[in-house]
Amino acid sequence: MPQYDYDLFVIGGGSGGVRAARIAAGHGAKVAVAEESRLGGTCVIRGCVPKKLLSYAAHFHEDFEDARNYGWTVGDASFDWATLIANKDKEIDRLNGIYKKLLSGSKVDLLESRAVIVDPHTIDVGGKRVTAKNILIAVGAWPERPQIPGIELSITSNEAFHLPMLPKEIVIVGGGYIAVEFAGIFNGLGAKVTQLYRGEQILRGFDDDVRHFLAAEIAKKGVAVRTQADVARIEKSGGRLNITLKSGEVLACDAIMYATGRHPKTNGMGLTEVGVKLKANGAIVVDADSQTAVPNIHAIGDCTDRLNLTPVAIREGQAYADSVFGSKPWMMDHKTVASAVFSHPPVGVVGLSEADARKEGRELDIYKADFKPLKHTISGRDERTLMKLVVDRKSQIVLGAHMVGMDAPEIIQAIAIAVKMGATKQQFDAAVAVHPTAAEEFVTLRMPVTAS
Ligand code: NDP
Repeated sequence: MPQYDYDLFVIGGGSGGVRAARIAAGHGAKVAVAEESRLGGTCVIRGCVPKKLLSYAAHFHEDFEDARNYGWTVGDASFDWATLIANKDKEIDRLNGIYKKLLSGSKVDLLESRAVIVDPHTIDVGGKRVTAKNILIAVGAWPERPQIPGIELSITSNEAFHLPMLPKEIVIVGGGYIAVEFAGIFNGLGAKVTQLYRGEQILRGFDDDVRHFLAAEIAKKGVAVRTQADVARIEKSGGRLNITLKSGEVLACDAIMYATGRHPKTNGMGLTEVGVKLKANGAIVVDADSQTAVPNIHAIGDCTDRLNLTPVAIREGQAYADSVFGSKPWMMDHKTVASAVFSHPPVGVVGLSEADARKEGRELDIYKADFKPLKHTISGRDERTLMKLVVDRKSQIVLGAHMVGMDAPEIIQAIAIAVKMGATKQQFDAAVAVHPTAAEEFVTLRMPVTAS
């Protein structure tokens, strides 16, 4: 008779938890996953995937306009929000079904209930006690809103995916990934968008050239980006909302969406009671092996607040399962991870920003290109592309690559291979250009723009 019901009990059926469960089961472990909502987690159900589908929808607006100078006669284009949401939901249902099949195909038990840790080897799942040798917490994060008067009148990205209709005028609060992405989506779909950011420039933490360039491009597309703007209160006025800024100015709109960060969803899970340590924001403290303060309890993904990206959670889950159940120990390397912001136009980055490289005390060669993409020479659209390489002068290693413009996320994925390998500027230059592309600029940047 085995000592425990399971070798591994995973709490949270998002991308990271499901990957860990499947890999551990493949290594021969008896595994269960508890999920209180829908399998797939933030990325599949209420994040990356539906967001990107909405972003595609928003791009058609410009595609119809751009087609005209290419000789196309485009009839009266109109957009139906309900069709988009229904089709998006159908795709999310399909993916949710695939996740279920992946688990059952791997012989992992799915328990569709909330799980609470009772002791290091016991979990309460919807009132039933289950025991496990190991526990993996992969519960993700949840939108966070500041507690100002009227905040309950606002929505978050969770609700934005299910609005009954497209708002005519929307205010988006925040200057991070989600705010910038939804500003592009709502603007492209035809809403009047105002984005309020409390600081000096959106996308804090990104390269300064990227931030300024993107803010200017977003503004050209019609989003009113207001910096140094903080909301004091929100009130209902008839069918509309009045937003009073700290400056006293009042903005009227149909909807207000907060994208002011996310907090780890670790509340009420019995974590501190069993000895798992949490940071002030609720993030689970883990070591490089994703182990918590309790040796048989590990945690991965957004609930650990390391690098909050789906592919990172997946890799952390894979490393955990291989190490603990497959006798193949390895660690996730959190350095030089590429990421993208699906803004309009999108951003792709890998490696260090110029400011972060300078903070390391390095002398740098900075290469930049700022140009009109070939497509827009005929379309007439006033949209530009920015590319930037941050190069260590002494070693000539490319420390960072940054791009704002069409296809930036696709391009940066390939550039990330070279940057991760530690390629030098000369090795970039040795790659012959693919012409005519935007990507070729990354291998034809001849002269540094600044050198210090
Ligand atoms: P971010 O942490 O990226 O940005 C939060 C924004 O809200 C910042 O601009 C911040 O300002 C601002 N803010 C925070 N608190 C307040 C407040 N009280 N009042 C006003 N503004 C405030 O969070 P997001 O919600 O955009 O995204 C969460 C995470 O999800 C990201 O960090 C990212 O890792 C992940 N994500 C990744 C995506 C991708 O890879 N494409 C897409 C979406 C999300 P300040 O800069 O001053 O702190």
